[in-house]
Amino acid sequence: MQKKENEYYNGCCDITSDLNHSTSYGKITLIGTGPGDIKHLTKAAVEAIEECSVIIGYSTYLKQISILLREEQEKMQFNMKDEITRCETAINKSMEGKSVAIVSGGDAGIYGMSGLLLELLEKKMLIGKIPLDFIPGIPAFCSAACSVGAPIMNDFCVISLSNLLTPWEEIEKRLDFASKADFVIIIYNPKSAKRKEELTAAKEILLKNINKTRPAAIVKAASRPDEEVVITTLEHIDEFSLVSMNTTIIIGNGTTFTKDFYMITRRGYGNKYRL
Ligand code: SAH
Repeated sequence: MQKKENEYYNGCCDITSDLNHSTSYGKITLIGTGPGDIKHLTKAAVEAIEECSVIIGYSTYLKQISILLREEQEKMQFNMKDEITRCETAINKSMEGKSVAIVSGGDAGIYGMSGLLLELLEKKMLIGKIPLDFIPGIPAFCSAACSVGAPIMNDFCVISLSNLLTPWEEIEKRLDFASKADFVIIIYNPKSAKRKEELTAAKEILLKNINKTRPAAIVKAASRPDEEVVITTLEHIDEFSLVSMNTTIIIGNGTTFTKDFYMITRRGYGNKYRL
C-alpha cells in the first residue's frame, strides 16, 4: 500500500480506476530552482521545466530560468505573498488537463511551495487524484555554506526569523533551544524592508547561550552575480548592510573555527584519528 502511494505521488504509476476522472488531470511538478545561478539547477529540474506546458512562479524565479523557457509554454508570473493564488492556478490548470510546473527557489519543500500545495490539495480532497512530482533543488544554505568552505560539518538547524506565518515567541524558543544544544545555526529571512529589528533580538537570545566570539558567516545572494560574503563573529551579525531578505547567516557550533576566507566546523576526526 505504502509503495503504491509513493509511486502515485511521484506521478509514475498508472492512474487506477478507483480514482474517478483522474485521467483528465494534468500532472503538477514542484521544481526547486536552486539558489539563483542557472548552473545550479539539476538536470532533472531542467527536464521537468522543459516538459511542462504551464510554468507558474514568483517573477524573480521565472526570470532566473527564462533562458530555458519556450515561446509556446504558458508563463504565469506572480508577486510575493501570492502563494495561495499560485497553487490554486496550478490546480485549475491541472484540471484543464495541462502539465504544470510550479517553480520555487532553493528546494520547493523548504519554506517553499510544496507544503502549501499539498495542504490545499488535502483540503480540496484532491490528494491521490492529481498526479504530483517533486524535484529537489539545492537549498540556499548549501550554497551559502560552500561560499565559506565547510561550516555545516555537524548537526545543524535552520531557523527563519520571519514572523509572518510563525509566531515570534516560537522563533525565540527555537533560537534558545538550538543555541543550548550547540547546533550550527542557520538563519533565514534575517531582515526585510518591514522587519529590521528581529536579527538583533535573535542575537541577544543566542548570546545568552553562545560566546560572543563564535564565528559567523553572512552570505548575501549566494551563487548570484552580486554575491557578497563576510566572516565575522556572533556579536557583530546585525551590523552589516549586506543583511537583507536575500541573505543567509551561518553561526558555528562550539568546534567551529576560521582561517583566511574559510569557516570550518570540526566533524570529530581529530578526536579519533591523528590528523
Ligand atoms: N526554499 C529556499 C528557502 C526559501 S526562504 C531554500 O531551499 O533555500 C527564503 C530565504 O532563503 C531568504 O530570506 C534567505 O535567507 C535565503 N536565501 C534564498 N536564496 C538565497 C541566496 N541566493 N543567498 C543567500 N540566502 C538566500
